[in-house]
Amino acid sequence: MTDRMSAEEVEDGLVAAADAILAADEIALACHVNPDGDALGSMLALHHVLRAAGMRSIASFSEPFTVAPHYRELAGLELLVPPDQFPREPRVMVTFDCGSLARLGDLEPVAKAAGELVVIDHHVSNQRYGTINVIDPAAAASGVLVRRLIDLMRLPLTRDAAVCLYAALVCDTGRFQYESTTPEVFELAKELASFDLPIATLCRTLFEEHRFAYLQLMADVLAHAVLIPEKRFVWAKVSVADLERHDVTFEEVEGLIDIVRRTREAEVACVLKEAPDGTWRVSLRSLGDVDVRLIAEQQGGGGHRFAAGFTSDEPDGVVVGKILAALP
Ligand code: MN
Repeated sequence: MTDRMSAEEVEDGLVAAADAILAADEIALACHVNPDGDALGSMLALHHVLRAAGMRSIASFSEPFTVAPHYRELAGLELLVPPDQFPREPRVMVTFDCGSLARLGDLEPVAKAAGELVVIDHHVSNQRYGTINVIDPAAAASGVLVRRLIDLMRLPLTRDAAVCLYAALVCDTGRFQYESTTPEVFELAKELASFDLPIATLCRTLFEEHRFAYLQLMADVLAHAVLIPEKRFVWAKVSVADLERHDVTFEEVEGLIDIVRRTREAEVACVLKEAPDGTWRVSLRSLGDVDVRLIAEQQGGGGHRFAAGFTSDEPDGVVVGKILAALP
């Protein structure tokens, strides 16, 4: 991977992105597969602002076209269209929080066919697959970059956009707890909060509320979690059979890693989730001594030093063995 973009390059990218978007008669927006709060929030925020300005904007993401239930308070989910209704050759397309073309899933061919492809992301592993790249690993969330983009376009922020950006911000900073929580993050939060946001409802649904069935699944999964003290490593897995037994969906278990990573004896935490197609979605978290992005990249994935992930079609024992081999 090439060196990070400088602050000037990020700013130039944002200006070019603003010009391209303002000149377009229709803008196609997409975020990564199995979208998280930042992916959905940053994409929907720009969608709201463009629509409010009377511009034609269409937003989508790949199949499985379902959103985890804890994101239901994000404004405008009903405005999203399934990937088969997305333009096939958009003149201008913007991707959000998406480090590679492959992470667009069904929308990868569309991105390749786009006239102008704007990539807005903060993953250091981003492959800069756009014609205009705005990659700033110093940004706490992709939503932070979207806020700056909206500013450069001189379009007003709306309350719905503010709700979405707030969700992006709290999700990617762990509710203002991660290293990424800078003074700029609080400044943006202050600006967003001035829109009379439903902060308590939003945060309860995002972080503090689960169906009872999920709690019972979690008990089951944690009972079988494995701690390997000499490697300071803890891991747990959720199989399709586990999900079926407890009647819990794949999207619902997204936050399981945030429980497993609380293990005091572990530097690195890992959760393997079996997708409906039988492959494992592997989430890694680190306290910072180990760069889990490097481990994920070895397996074809990506992410940050503290949080990364990859997909594998190998048996769970093999996947865990490879992670262990990469640990000090
Ligand atoms: Mn993000």
